Amino acid sequence: MRSRRMRKLFACLLILSMNAYAVDPTHSESLRGYTAVHSAAEVQWEQKFRAIPEPDRIRENMRRLSARPHHVGSPYDKDNAEWLLAQLKSYGLDAKIEQFEALFPTPKSRKLELLGSAKFTAKLEEPALAVDPTSGQRDEQLPTYNAYSRDGDVTAPLVYVNYGAPSDYEQLDAMGVSVKGAIVIARYGETWRGIKPKVAAEHGAVGCIIYSDPKDDGYARGDSYPDGPMRPAEGAQRGSVMDMPVYPGDPQTPGVGAKPGVKLIPLDQVQTITKIPVLPISYADAQPFLKSLEGQTVPENWRGGLPFTYKTGPSKAQAHLAVAFNWDRKPLYDVIATIPGATFPDEWVIRGNHHDAWVNGAEDPLSGTSPELEEARALGELLKQGWKPARTVIYCFWDGEEPALLGSTEWAEYHADELKQHAVAYFNSDGNGRGFFHAGGSHSLENFINSVAKDVDDPETKMSVWKRARLAARLHGTPESRAEAKSRPDSRISALGSGSDYTVFIDHLGVPSANLGYGGEDEGGGQYHSVYDDFYYYTHFQDTEFVYERALAQTAGTMMMRMADADVLPYQFTDQADTIHTYVTEVKKLADTMRTQIKDRNADLADGVYKAATDPKKTSVPPPVDVVPPYFNFAPLDQASDDLTAAAADYEKAFTAHAENADPKVNALLIATEHALTDPAGLPNRPWFENMIYAPGFFTGYGVKTLPAVRESIEQKQWTAVDPQISRTAAAIEREVDKLKAATTALNGE
Ligand SMILES: [Zn+2]
Repeated sequence: MRSRRMRKLFACLLILSMNAYAVDPTHSESLRGYTAVHSAAEVQWEQKFRAIPEPDRIRENMRRLSARPHHVGSPYDKDNAEWLLAQLKSYGLDAKIEQFEALFPTPKSRKLELLGSAKFTAKLEEPALAVDPTSGQRDEQLPTYNAYSRDGDVTAPLVYVNYGAPSDYEQLDAMGVSVKGAIVIARYGETWRGIKPKVAAEHGAVGCIIYSDPKDDGYARGDSYPDGPMRPAEGAQRGSVMDMPVYPGDPQTPGVGAKPGVKLIPLDQVQTITKIPVLPISYADAQPFLKSLEGQTVPENWRGGLPFTYKTGPSKAQAHLAVAFNWDRKPLYDVIATIPGATFPDEWVIRGNHHDAWVNGAEDPLSGTSPELEEARALGELLKQGWKPARTVIYCFWDGEEPALLGSTEWAEYHADELKQHAVAYFNSDGNGRGFFHAGGSHSLENFINSVAKDVDDPETKMSVWKRARLAARLHGTPESRAEAKSRPDSRISALGSGSDYTVFIDHLGVPSANLGYGGEDEGGGQYHSVYDDFYYYTHFQDTEFVYERALAQTAGTMMMRMADADVLPYQFTDQADTIHTYVTEVKKLADTMRTQIKDRNADLADGVYKAATDPKKTSVPPPVDVVPPYFNFAPLDQASDDLTAAAADYEKAFTAHAENADPKVNALLIATEHALTDPAGLPNRPWFENMIYAPGFFTGYGVKTLPAVRESIEQKQWTAVDPQISRTAAAIEREVDKLKAATTALNGE
């Protein structure tokens, strides 16, 4: 589902800081985890592989898959799954469809009106455009709506809440504006959309409208579609608002693979459906509602791009929002192709990208799906030439990602026991575009991802995609990240939150995972989840030559091969230890910063600062006096971080000395390392999330929280929870240390 590609990318690039003067990436040395002989053979096979993917074939994949709307449960979704299956078989691969089912609500009725003298009824329609041949496939298009909004019919005044983040409500509190009993109008952006109704409901709102402001993805950023790539006046963003930070996947079967006939939680007991009705609208529809707002003028950073004064509300006129849905269970068609491993068949390297879309979905997801299919074809060609992967290679084309990561989550929950034992890595992609390479994921894969990125050519500048991203990173970022871009041998990869199909692998199962893509040079995101994200749009405004599409196939395919063929799994732990150390430093600093801020603010309140500094003729409410946080015992976390640093260094020494003659049994020990970072009791209030290092934020949705149990206890001021969560997190890291020591012992032949 991947939101707001460009902005996210720049965030990644800041982190992906890199070194221009690092060692020249040629293969005078063996690939990590390979004997000299195997390395030489692997390099040749990989070069052959990268020569195979063709931009024109990727373009044709996209044309075929995007020809009609293909959301979950639609005829063309199934048709696409069957076509993917036939393609994979024609490449000589052993492929099948694994079917699951999940709750997927679709609109029965939608109504939004402004009552009173300026009565207005929202159109709630994206018009067909003459130049765009698939934009008019009305009969098969899902209307604009937010999936997993509850049914509801509410009439109330409106309040504008900016992006609808928790901090926006603090601002409203300070201005003396309450949303209790109101319908909130929030703009898309900043927070994941599902956070907006969740936080609104917590503050007592009865309904939620989310609109696309032209400042965020419309005319303020570029020409509007079809003249340019940005969202037009009547374009709207569909999308899920399920409370996925609690658990993704089928809402009625958390933790269990939803094969037909599985026991279901009754609908009225599902925790992840919104508490209030929600509806997304275009800015053409939003304008009369925004104009009806009275009250105070909003702060500067709350202003959007529309030509009138933005006010907080409440409105005198009432708004009427009514939505009802068909609460049906729909089939999911995951397409799975397997190439059995010749040497280590019980070790699995997994690749995935979803195939379902909100509508035609050329960019999201087919710009990732189409290269993935080309990758599979290229591997089929290599098999014919005699390549045999050492490990089992599994290519997955997921259904139902858009509603709630349904297809990947149900598949991985169904196969959970096998995956915990056998999965060595999961490589994900989703929408893809022109520009810089970026990667996020498990930091045990950081060195590996760097090594592959050095071997892929940037199609436009001809330098390696690694070098290009690394040099480009020096123009952005903090002084520290720019300094790192010159001196740290490996470029840092970002941490993963949620937002695509890697979630179940990394967060629930503890499988080392990465998310890969290109972007930053096209204005991505303008037609995100709209009827206009289609073949015409992609071929006019995105990677029109399909060369970054080829680069994605080359990158991800090389990763699959290199991970599959290694004698010893090429995980590397010194980068991981270094990154975890930075997270420990961050949470300690967070606690100190919050303590100082709260102390300062309490002093300001006592001294009358707020009263003095605010306009007595305007409403303003000072913040409440807060409890000053106690000092926490971070020692277990410091100890665990140090232990991991030492164990990683010892492992690296043993690896350098003995990997060439390693007993293959060391691989089984290595598979257990990342899994050790999970805790079956999970995170506070959301046990499905078991990874103690990475999680999507409870109040950010897509955005990652590292060391989440500790960090969120501090952020949410759960002061008594902090020390116990420090201990649990430290224990998870110590479990990894033990596994790593066992692998080191095995390498040393002791
Ligand atoms: Zn997607």
